[in-house]
Amino acid sequence: MGKPMKIDMAEIKERVRREQACPRHRYEIGPGPYAMGAKYRCAHCGAEKRMYEIGDYVKGYQAAGGDPLDVCPEWQERKPEGLPS
Ligand SMILES: [Zn+2]
Repeated sequence: MGKPMKIDMAEIKERVRREQACPRHRYEIGPGPYAMGAKYRCAHCGAEKRMYEIGDYVKGYQAAGGDPLDVCPEWQERKPEGLPS
């Protein structure tokens, strides 16, 4: 075991403040492949989220009438092979 990890409360508070002040997160996650545990950073506020959290955010944004590509340019609804689009 190394040294216990230091937690800086002021830094955490600042990070939460920035994330909550972010008008709209934008996750540019690149072409993949994606790992479930990997974290991606919001281009506006720097908040880091895991893939499933980003997925929830995108789906929520979409449910509220937004374009999912605004918050994650790589987001695509996957269509089953062979079906007309
Ligand atoms: Zn953000």
